Amino acid sequence: MSIQPIRVTVWGENAHEKTSETVRAVYPDGMHTVIAAGIREYLGDGAVVRTATLEQDEHGLTDEVLGSTDVLTWWGHMAHGKVEDAVVDKVYQRVLNGMGLIVLHSGHFSKIFRKLMGTSCALRWREDPNERELVWNVRPGHPITKGIGPVIVVPHQEMYGEYFDIPQPDEQIFISSFTGGEVFRSGCCFTRGQGRIFYFSPGHETFPVYYQTEIKQVIANAVGWAYRDPASSPVFEITKAPNAPTGWFEKSGND
Ligand code: ZN
Repeated sequence: MSIQPIRVTVWGENAHEKTSETVRAVYPDGMHTVIAAGIREYLGDGAVVRTATLEQDEHGLTDEVLGSTDVLTWWGHMAHGKVEDAVVDKVYQRVLNGMGLIVLHSGHFSKIFRKLMGTSCALRWREDPNERELVWNVRPGHPITKGIGPVIVVPHQEMYGEYFDIPQPDEQIFISSFTGGEVFRSGCCFTRGQGRIFYFSPGHETFPVYYQTEIKQVIANAVGWAYRDPASSPVFEITKAPNAPTGWFEKSGND
């Protein structure tokens, strides 16, 4: 455990919550507030958690906020296209320099996730209130599955199915199955540059998935996993591609 609390920013598009009565009934103060509360509940003093939303200046992700964020979580769906490319580029650079990123549910189609993955990130989906998701733990012993049993039962959830067009994950943590028989790689770890990325699919806006105990625990675990302590492992800044004459590493100030 680090001594400094992990500085977490929970980003929420906060759009469905404004336009849909159904969504507001489940998440009256927005999904981001529930996700943030879950992280606080599980990490306690180990984290300081704030939220940011699309409608804020620079979507709430100013240089100051990004510079003081160790792990960013991302939930978006209907307004991916409204996220400014300049903000996406800054988030991207922060990830390469070591900021952790947790991408949730429909965030699979966000600009930032697609940019980091380099693929379409398309998947199959079906919205059906009678759909049940079984989230199978295929990496017991991994930090992200700490406290999680063999399977998480999500009673109502949108179906996400293969083929999911992502690069092969560095680590596969969860695989889900659905009432219709589909399967989905629902928990995937990636590394880009010095940043750790975790994609976790449970969490549709019309179902109370982010209130569920095991889901809160997984997201909190993922925050801990994605965190890299800037004090113990300083960012290795590669600002140019330097020439390397023999013995360059013995001289001071070489770059
Ligand atoms: Zn959804």
